[in-house]
Amino acid sequence: MVDALLTPEQQKYLELARKFTREKILPVAAQYDRTGEFPWPVVEAAREIGLHCMTAPRAYGGPELDSVTISLIMEEFAYGCAGIATTLGGNGLSSYPVLIAGTEEQKKLFFGRLLAGGLGAFALTEPGAGSDAGAVSTSARREGDEYVINGTKCFITTGAMADIFIVFASTNPTMKARGLSAFIVEREREGISIGHEEDKMGIRASNTVEVRFNNVRVPADHLLGKEGEGFKIAMQTLDMARPIVGAIAVGVARAALEECIDYVKSRMDGTKPLSANQAVQFRIADMAMKVEAARLMVRRALALKEAGVPYSKESAMAKAYASDVAMEVTAEAVEIMGAVGYSKDSRVEKLMRDAKITQIYEGTNQIQRIVIANNLLRS
Ligand SMILES: Cc1cc2nc3c(=O)[nH]c(=O)nc-3n(C[C@H](O)[C@H](O)[C@H](O)COP(=O)(O)OP(=O)(O)OC[C@H]3O[C@@H](n4cnc5c(N)ncnc54)[C@H](O)[C@@H]3O)c2cc1C
Repeated sequence: MVDALLTPEQQKYLELARKFTREKILPVAAQYDRTGEFPWPVVEAAREIGLHCMTAPRAYGGPELDSVTISLIMEEFAYGCAGIATTLGGNGLSSYPVLIAGTEEQKKLFFGRLLAGGLGAFALTEPGAGSDAGAVSTSARREGDEYVINGTKCFITTGAMADIFIVFASTNPTMKARGLSAFIVEREREGISIGHEEDKMGIRASNTVEVRFNNVRVPADHLLGKEGEGFKIAMQTLDMARPIVGAIAVGVARAALEECIDYVKSRMDGTKPLSANQAVQFRIADMAMKVEAARLMVRRALALKEAGVPYSKESAMAKAYASDVAMEVTAEAVEIMGAVGYSKDSRVEKLMRDAKITQIYEGTNQIQRIVIANNLLRS
């Protein structure tokens, strides 16, 4: 179906992603959900069609897609499987700090790795620093021409498979958030080890692990921006990434809505299909309105970003609204489908488990509301 709000180029990418999802993701989504294995063949297939590092600038051989186009692709991937979408989105998330603050040399290093087929990971969260990123205790001590990094990161997406990390560490612990700095750290550096792997409720096709840094030495030129700019880089990164989480949420919600529509049309309630019941019709209509509104909020936030105007509030709104919608719509779908919806044999059972993470990662929805309120209430 043609979307009148899209350019022909965006429509082309949407169709490419839809075909990819139909052929490469949907057939294996349930299997990866069950096993929790890493979806290497899907990652490889995405690389073959040039969709594994969508943010990479053309100057380094990447497609440099605009963020609205990336959101269209991510919605499609998540329609197939939010765990696989999260995996394929990881290169985007980890690339934003480099796009924001990277030098020419740093961009060459980082995108060179990813475009050669590598995976990136964004390492901010720690056991003692989740919502409060300023509480990061991983340290980076300057020694001559190097920094020495020590600390433990947790819940790091694709951490065990990453070729390259963006690590947030404190170069001045007394300064809290203002002492935070961001570093590019290659996987092969001595002192990096992978710890506990999470056994998750949803997005089970994505890898989520603890990553330990024990006296890891990186050259001083691996510092992104200046010392003390890490917090600002992290917040700008999250502004860029949150609408993409919104797009993942829209994909999950849309899949649940479609499953539910198919079900109520075929499920007989006595002599009539469930869909003949007006109470069911109203619930379906409400679900569809919410999915549509969420998608428009995602696109608007990203259109503002592309226009180069402030969009922090809209980014937080898009993420929070779309993920709340994903949770509501998937729970509605399970309920409307009754026992069938509750069964692991149904697709909506997985969709409801997958939806939950979109309310949590890249800043919980409580944190999004703080961002929104701060934007509205500051004088
Ligand atoms: C599957 C998965 C993948 C992830 N991937 C990554 C990754 O790749 N890189 C990375 O760095 N991190 C990652 N994370 C971490 C994620 O971003 C954090 O879990 C998230 O930011 C919340 O932090 P927390 O879990 O420590 O919750 P906490 O900060 O402990 O919060 C607990 C609860 O308190 C609420 N709360 C906290 N502070 C406030 C406040 N000031 N006002 C009101 N309510 C508040 C929160 O909303 C939440 O409901 C991932 C997490 C998961 C589960």
